[in-house]
Amino acid sequence: MSLSVTHTRAQLGVSAPLVTVETHLANGLPAFNIVGLPEAAVRESRDRVRSALVNSHFEFPQRRITVNLAPADLPKEGGRYDLAIALGILAASGQVPVESLAGAEFIGELALTGDLREVPGALPAAIACADAGHRLVVPRASGPAAALADGEILVAENLLQVCAHLHRRESLPAAQPPPAPARPQVADLADVRGQLRARRALEIAAAGGHNLLFYGPPGTGKTMLASRLPGILPALGQREQLEVAAVYSSAGLDFPGQRPFRAPHHSASPTALVGGGSNPRPGEISLAHRGILFLDELPEFPRHALEILREPLESGEVRIARARASVAFPAGFQLVAAMNPCPCGYLGEPRCRCTPDQVQRYRAKLSGPLLDRIDMHVEVAAMTAGQLQDAPTGEASAVVQERVVDARIRQQQRQATINAELRGNALEQQCSLGGPEQELLRRSVDQLGLSARSYHRVLRVARTIADLAGAASIGSGHIAEALAYRNLDRRQPIGAGA
Ligand SMILES: [Zn+2]
Repeated sequence: MSLSVTHTRAQLGVSAPLVTVETHLANGLPAFNIVGLPEAAVRESRDRVRSALVNSHFEFPQRRITVNLAPADLPKEGGRYDLAIALGILAASGQVPVESLAGAEFIGELALTGDLREVPGALPAAIACADAGHRLVVPRASGPAAALADGEILVAENLLQVCAHLHRRESLPAAQPPPAPARPQVADLADVRGQLRARRALEIAAAGGHNLLFYGPPGTGKTMLASRLPGILPALGQREQLEVAAVYSSAGLDFPGQRPFRAPHHSASPTALVGGGSNPRPGEISLAHRGILFLDELPEFPRHALEILREPLESGEVRIARARASVAFPAGFQLVAAMNPCPCGYLGEPRCRCTPDQVQRYRAKLSGPLLDRIDMHVEVAAMTAGQLQDAPTGEASAVVQERVVDARIRQQQRQATINAELRGNALEQQCSLGGPEQELLRRSVDQLGLSARSYHRVLRVARTIADLAGAASIGSGHIAEALAYRNLDRRQPIGAGA
């Protein structure tokens, strides 16, 4: 027999399409050709596979070897296909039983010694492989990531071990999930003194999944507040955990074990923010999936970097265009941003020398459409030393989290989604208002000059406020509070009251 077929998986975003590796040995001048990978990847893979076979004391066939990877349009990184290619050659040359390859998939990069090296995207591959009913062999180092999937996932140190397994001389150990992360060190809301309005806003944002912008002078605790949001959100569900772990696996990173909190600096490149590259990797917005994306000093981010956030904020995913296809990554993050009220940060105080024009330009860096997508604008005021001292210690995160979870359960039972994701008919149905409430909202929106999009944001936030209160329908008080969180798109400048 001089023909063999093995199976492996490519990595496209968080999906892992099946790749078939056909190996054919023919008589003629010795040669080793790989079809279906880009030129550079072919060269490197050929060298690694040849050395790994020789150094593992296998015979490298002195024949005309043709390896075909199908489909042909595969990512440039060829390392992950090494193991399947090496086994294909061994099977085609009778060094491992051809039938032992059936029902199995193999992923791993080979070192020249024959050792198996970790590959990114082991979890998406393991999920797809389990769905196909196949067993999967991965490098030991990729085992913890892959083990989060259901299915038969085996780990091996090197090529020799895999071959001993295929000859049924040695069994491979099952992949073990990563050790449970130590009790996550999430900062507690109890540390925040005072700031009752901001704490209340944080609770509403957590309960409904709303985007939030804190504005106020430096040193008022905007970052401190934002970093406490993960601690009051419900724990990740099992499916959510798998989604988050798949993104991290595709980036070659360890699963954080809890809701992600990502805080990229404003100097981060657009690629670092949204993802990209020739073999696309997830960016910060995907690493924040099911968690928080915190953008401090929002106006300092380049305008075009902020504009590209608009689409994922609506759709919960990001598409990265490649030469022939586009790759999608999940990006269902909750945006929390912070900004100063003016370039110097002290608008309204005597020390502020910013001209109205400078303040206007600073604010104009945030486009209306982006601001529209942030449900809640919350002022975090400076407190005097005396106020700070008199302020009571706040509630602990665990107490707030209980209310948040209750409100989320109400949303799930009513509409099977969080309020922030209510759209179209569902929005109208779940947020229908009585006559007086409707009149109040209409009038307020007119007076404040809010956009149609803002109108819907107010409705969703009001729905969450009602849920926190355990109210079946949205009342005038809920609307009034929700309206108070639209400060930045009112006609009056910020700092002038609010
Ligand atoms: Zn200023």
